[in-house]
Amino acid sequence: MTGASLNAARRAAELDALASGEAVDLVVVGGGITGAGVALDAASRGLSVALLERRDLAHGTSRWSSKLIHGGLRYLEHREFGLAWESARERALLMGTIAPHLVRPLPFVTPLDAGMPARKAAKTHVGLRIGDGLRIGARTSRRVLPPARRISALEARRLAPALAEGGLRGALLSWDGQLEDDARLVVAVARTAAAHGARILTYASVTGVRDDGVDAVDALTGAAFSVRARHVILATGVWAGELSPAVELRPSRGSHLLVPAGRLGDPRAAVNVPVPGGRGRWVFALPRADGLVAIGLTDVAADGPVPDEPAPSAEEEATLLEHAGAALEVSLGPEDVAGRYAGLRPLLAGSETETADLSRRHAVIEDPETGALTAVGGKLTTYRAMAQDAVDRITEQPCRTARLALVGAGAAAAAPPRLIRRFGAEAAAVAELGSTEPLAPGVPVCEAELRWATAHELAITPEDLSDRRTRAGLVPEWREVVLAAARATIPGWSSAVSPPPTSTTSTS
Ligand SMILES: Cc1cc2nc3c(=O)[nH]c(=O)nc-3n(C[C@H](O)[C@H](O)[C@H](O)COP(=O)(O)OP(=O)(O)OC[C@H]3O[C@@H](n4cnc5c(N)ncnc54)[C@H](O)[C@@H]3O)c2cc1C
Repeated sequence: MTGASLNAARRAAELDALASGEAVDLVVVGGGITGAGVALDAASRGLSVALLERRDLAHGTSRWSSKLIHGGLRYLEHREFGLAWESARERALLMGTIAPHLVRPLPFVTPLDAGMPARKAAKTHVGLRIGDGLRIGARTSRRVLPPARRISALEARRLAPALAEGGLRGALLSWDGQLEDDARLVVAVARTAAAHGARILTYASVTGVRDDGVDAVDALTGAAFSVRARHVILATGVWAGELSPAVELRPSRGSHLLVPAGRLGDPRAAVNVPVPGGRGRWVFALPRADGLVAIGLTDVAADGPVPDEPAPSAEEEATLLEHAGAALEVSLGPEDVAGRYAGLRPLLAGSETETADLSRRHAVIEDPETGALTAVGGKLTTYRAMAQDAVDRITEQPCRTARLALVGAGAAAAAPPRLIRRFGAEAAAVAELGSTEPLAPGVPVCEAELRWATAHELAITPEDLSDRRTRAGLVPEWREVVLAAARATIPGWSSAVSPPPTSTTSTS
């Protein structure tokens, strides 16, 4: 447990040791899911590892996803069988061994209505059956993810009460994995890496890559330092081109809206609606455990400077409301939107494929100047396989992560449901640290979570608590409440030690 505990004091001590000249086998740059996965993979193979993240864990794309651990159904439409199989296999590992506490089965309802002519419905059903075949091949039990089947209109409306009744002939019911939260997965992977000896340093910005390590700046003090390393793996996502000119990206933005579940009749299933004219594109409404429904997803070219925090455009918001509304009885407007977020897909430039499809492939690219490897692309679902590919390039030690459970996996003792969902086997220990009552009416965050994140999850600034550990930041009203509580929670916190905001940077 101590080994998995990350906090400001451990960060300072480990940063000092590295800055004083202690060398490591591997420096990983970037603390999103890719970097955390690489750090865990390498540390669990016995390598000494330091991960440097310029902001907080999961500051980048890894917290702006749809939060699905999906079996790769959509790749089947593009005949990407290898990708689909990899997804189904990784989903089985995540739901079975690695993080069963963070991934849960989610039913999906695909309405058979005017937007789904019989031919398209039949094709979709065949795709779902192939998906079932992959599930069986990957050994995910039907008790975890039941097989797809056709259901009646009545049953569909029981699962998703806001579905429009007119023209509804029935629906296809299928199942996939849903993450409690993407940023929590990143934190769990990083802490598990720490338990294997990895040094996890947030607010440590890498300014240059050399053939014997990296140059960096401690964003909390402004002090420059270097870390000596035999290997460097860059996992800087959409910012990859900044440190390795060998990597050229063409990012695309995907946006989500968050609507109170009550507006959609408190659905128990996600609704999947094909986008008219979009090959293999769907708009979905995903019910979440925090009383919100996430409506996504757009795919808009995002050339030019890479913003620190992307935001959905008004046009994307209107498009999402319109497409979701086409299958729903409820007419949604901007006044129904409690929160909104956007993420940038780190897409490799140079392919003619539609951007959303490209993002799912990953690549490990070597910089000819420094020898550093960049691991880019992929998705949350396949982070483990991507990390394995990258680390295979620097060691012959066998990969161990397929059978390695993350911190929090395992039986949970009695604790409030939110804590069990988010902390698994650690929930009872979290509950011991403070009040488990909501911080304010309707705000699903408690004091105990804030104290735990500060003591064990490397939350250093109030924003780390509001925006990454608790995700209150997804709803502006919740954020204000949590930020106020967070400022009072962090020992000795003063805005004087707040790291300066990162300025907007360019991709290439
Ligand atoms: C809208 C959207 C929805 C998605 N939905 C899903 C989904 O449902 N399921 C799924 O499996 N996948 C999904 N994905 C894909 C998945 O989110 C990404 O593939 C994944 O999060 C990328 O992680 P990463 O670690 O490579 O990048 P990031 O999470 O962006 O991490 C890169 C990190 O590098 C840091 N960094 C950058 N430069 C430096 C530097 N110089 N020094 C130190 N640190 C630095 C950044 O601060 C950042 O934290 C989605 C993607 C998008 C955009």
